[in-house]
Amino acid sequence: MRKHCSFYRAVLFVFIFNNLIAFNIGGIQMNKEKIMEAVTMLIEAIGEDPQREGLVDTPDRIARMYEEIFAGIGQTAEEHLSKSFTIESNDLVIERDIPFYSMCEHHFLPFYGKAHIAYVPNGKVAGLSKLVRTVDVYARKPQLQEKLTSEIGSAIMEYLDAQGVMVIIEAEHLCMNMRGVKRPGTKTVTAMSDGILKTDASLKNDVYNLLGIRA
Ligand SMILES: [Zn+2]
Repeated sequence: MRKHCSFYRAVLFVFIFNNLIAFNIGGIQMNKEKIMEAVTMLIEAIGEDPQREGLVDTPDRIARMYEEIFAGIGQTAEEHLSKSFTIESNDLVIERDIPFYSMCEHHFLPFYGKAHIAYVPNGKVAGLSKLVRTVDVYARKPQLQEKLTSEIGSAIMEYLDAQGVMVIIEAEHLCMNMRGVKRPGTKTVTAMSDGILKTDASLKNDVYNLLGIRA
């Protein structure tokens, strides 16, 4: 009986320990070895030689690069948006032309462009750099432009408790420029609005005017 108890205690300890590690690093840990193996296989599969000079360090380079460009996996912008300041008046806040880079989840090729964020506060505002960080968190993972737009907007509603939000993203997708229809320069525009920026047409028009967009 005692033997069983210590066995279960050990299992429980391992379970808690593993979960603590996962928790501490924010949910997902990247397996660098596995990325390197996969890239080596990819190089072989396209008929190239993974040992030739130019390619021999490519698996390691890509693994290190993925740690950076996919750093948003499993993360939210809660940490950034909870560092807010109290304000007296709830006037419209607009941060425009926030540059971002993301990876299209359908082709694993970059899409990049500018995000514009407008929100009506509810007694508190986020530091302007925190909006940039918010865009980064959601851009740094395999992503779709539509989802990126709505995730940024939802984060501002939820973590900043805004009265309303509008997010507009214009981006170029390398999967459109390099392959398929091949139309370099084509921009995809996505937009979302929530709260009073969804329901109040005149406020919405203010945002369009300030961003220089014709509604
Ligand atoms: Zn794509």
